Amino acid sequence: MRKKVWVIATIFMLVAGSVIGISTTNTSADSGKQKHNSGNNGKVKNVIVMIGDGMGPAYTTAYRYMQDDPFTMQMEKTIFDKHFVGMAKTYPEDSEENVTDSAAAATSMAAGIKTYNGAISVDNDKEPVGTVLESAKKNGMATGLVATSQVNHATPAAFGAHDVSRHNYNDIADDYFDDMINGKHKVDVILGGGTTYFDREDRNLINDFKEDGYNYVTSTEELLENENDQLLGLFAPVGLPKAIDRKESTPSLEDMTTAALEQLSQDKDGFFLMVEGSQIDWAGHANDSVSAMSEMEDFARAFETVIEFAKENGHTQVVLTADHSTGGFSVGRDGAYNFNPEAIKAAERTPEFMAQEITDGESVEDVLAEYVSFDFTDEELASIKEAASKNDFDTLYGAISEVFNNRAGVGFTTSGHTGIDVPVYAYGPKSEVFSGLIDNTDIANEVFGFLK
Ligand SMILES: [Zn+2]
Repeated sequence: MRKKVWVIATIFMLVAGSVIGISTTNTSADSGKQKHNSGNNGKVKNVIVMIGDGMGPAYTTAYRYMQDDPFTMQMEKTIFDKHFVGMAKTYPEDSEENVTDSAAAATSMAAGIKTYNGAISVDNDKEPVGTVLESAKKNGMATGLVATSQVNHATPAAFGAHDVSRHNYNDIADDYFDDMINGKHKVDVILGGGTTYFDREDRNLINDFKEDGYNYVTSTEELLENENDQLLGLFAPVGLPKAIDRKESTPSLEDMTTAALEQLSQDKDGFFLMVEGSQIDWAGHANDSVSAMSEMEDFARAFETVIEFAKENGHTQVVLTADHSTGGFSVGRDGAYNFNPEAIKAAERTPEFMAQEITDGESVEDVLAEYVSFDFTDEELASIKEAASKNDFDTLYGAISEVFNNRAGVGFTTSGHTGIDVPVYAYGPKSEVFSGLIDNTDIANEVFGFLK
């Protein structure tokens, strides 16, 4: 886009807008508000909380560039942009750190309190604090947790379990089965990765769930065939492969979300569902822009599915945000005023996947030629070969990622989290309560209000 054309086009749109009355600033949450005014009396029956783990504002901006149609003057709105309502503060209440981790932030969004990093819905006295999912179950509603990480990872864990540490994976998985509310299991639909933690030497939770009437599924096909309202789906030993690395037998986040909605929406008392795009964060930690955009796309598609459901339903409140940002992802780097999505789109698999193939014995040239549509420069090839010679997976993974980051104009400043505010999106009858600058605890506290 050349600047001059831009300016002329903008002036034209402004003039045309004022003359014939077109609004050029289609407001963000208007669709939600329209619902409010269109005959459902603003009643919330179902609540869907979506969390893009690590999805700070640079990720949603980069995703907009990725989605841009280069043949039009304006940069089109993404599914996120259409429902933007504000920003959220994410700081934890931790004696040593003031940038949050996923556990503390998820506790804030699930239980409405600030706590220390690593806490799974316990407060600073290590006492359990009730969550919105538990509140929904107490009200007789159906409940679900969907994630692309292991389902007992920090974010889903904070909704369905209580633990002094996010690292107690086995105990968290046990909680999903053992903690009963009114004689029932807390979570009706559990979908994600994590067979390692459910099928263990000391305990087989899969059998426990099956004995209590849950349908257990392990592939896309089985998931799509499910007709049971209690469902456990585990599709990987730990986290699912990244979206662009997945085989057809591994479901997308959209597939899992659709399957969850199908069952949960049959409960006449309504439902609570948490859906997490878990690995945007993992891509950020690895400073890998290709994986980050792969996971953004997976998450965006799940959001589209959720919005469609909510539009049809009319009594569903959707709120989507991030727990924090990861990696210090920047759109533009090294003084250059350019972000080039084509460099990222050239990868058909993640650098992680390619690094694995090379580690497994394939040649660097073969792997790059097979999965990347641009030609590597001699310098780029040399940097990857040099990394491959060190026999360290992370070094190789980093070297491949860096070629894409450099070509795309993506910078990273840390392998950890950053403390910047995160975007908030909403759709449904009560979307306005999430607008402006809110605190991450407001997410839970407003949802508690809907569930009353
Ligand atoms: Zn993280």
